[in-house]
Amino acid sequence: MARIVMKFGGTSVADLDRIHNVARHVKREVEAGHEVAVVVSAMSGKTNELVAWVQNMPKVAGSNAPFYDAREYDAVVASGEQVTAGLLAVALQSMGVNARSWQGWQIPIKTDTAHGAARIADIDGSFLIKRFGEGQVAVIAGFQGIAPDNRIATLGRGGSDTSAVAIAAAVKADRCDIYTDVDGVYTTDPRIEPKARRLPKISFEEMLEMASLGAKVLQVRSVELAMVHKVRTFVRSSFEDPDAPGMGDLLNPPGTLICDEDEIVEQQVVTGIAYAKDEAQISLRRVSDRPGVAAGIFLPLAEANINVDMIVQNISEDGKSTDMTFTVPSSDVSKALAVLEKNRDTVGFDVVQHDDGMSKVSVIGIGMRSHAGVAATAFKALADKSINIRAITTSEIKISILIDGPYTELAVRTLHSVYGLDKH
Ligand code: ASP
Ligand code: MG
Repeated sequence: MARIVMKFGGTSVADLDRIHNVARHVKREVEAGHEVAVVVSAMSGKTNELVAWVQNMPKVAGSNAPFYDAREYDAVVASGEQVTAGLLAVALQSMGVNARSWQGWQIPIKTDTAHGAARIADIDGSFLIKRFGEGQVAVIAGFQGIAPDNRIATLGRGGSDTSAVAIAAAVKADRCDIYTDVDGVYTTDPRIEPKARRLPKISFEEMLEMASLGAKVLQVRSVELAMVHKVRTFVRSSFEDPDAPGMGDLLNPPGTLICDEDEIVEQQVVTGIAYAKDEAQISLRRVSDRPGVAAGIFLPLAEANINVDMIVQNISEDGKSTDMTFTVPSSDVSKALAVLEKNRDTVGFDVVQHDDGMSKVSVIGIGMRSHAGVAATAFKALADKSINIRAITTSEIKISILIDGPYTELAVRTLHSVYGLDKH
């Protein structure tokens, strides 16, 4: 017997037929004698609709505060998950499975006060474990919890992945299965490179980089949590026949296992290629070269909640001034420029240039720690395709390269092949 948390994403519960199919997946594990908790997302498209409703409401007249009350945003957008949790419980009951639905506050899943992007602070696992003992399947609304102000809080878009991993950690589950519309984590986006391969395993650290650098399978926060609590997490498809051979395999179900790197025997140098479109590059010229300048530039940007990514500062030629280039999401460019403009005189810099429509392509692999020349290989491969590199950042296990947007697909395919990822 094992303890399993099963999470089903929006496309997996998109209509009543699919909810019924999800119930069959759950039933399979229950009949195998496992203790099961299920976490569900809203039906696909539902959260977008709810978000749009809130955004389209009239704003408070004369107020320059956040354009709506984030607590009410949460009250509205958390409702999508409530619906699917109830429907799945009904579907399970109709199949003879003992199940009931739970909303975040009923468990309770306690969060911090950051409405709209809350973090889970605490889940008391003993409550769910007691239900397991009674043979009942808990169907839990993902994406939501309760904040210290006693109001519903949501965890940021894609947050039900995080709900699932956090619950798995709280009940010390043997496995957390994230069911989605793809059958695992791929070496790169198969829509760009059809030769992309499904990875049997990927380490927590690599998955964290993949998710942070653009791969959209999992919410970044969920991977962080899985890494910290060492939750063995599977990414697998809900669209396969729930009763196909091997689907109920305890140790090796079909999908990608995200696990500790020690578990990965055949480690490649490079594991995957990720990309993020819609980056913008901002360049400051003649930035005065003295202590406190970087803080003077980036603190106000951080305070304005602008996510600054790659930062490149040049060596000063005359000891008086230098150049600084960094990237922000394209959607934040005008906000960033306004903040910079405000601080221009106090900090001291000359020209602000900005370029939209950049992409960041990243090469990821823990094997890089012990292999030289991985970055040089990427640069040469891109040069051979005449792709110009605008900025580079590296860490122990990744290289990120900023390029012009229209070259994204070519760059992804080029890097995927130069590291042999398309070889089966
Ligand atoms: N329904 C929420 C969203 O679309 C949470 C989730 O699906 O993970 O962001
Ligand atoms: Mg998702």
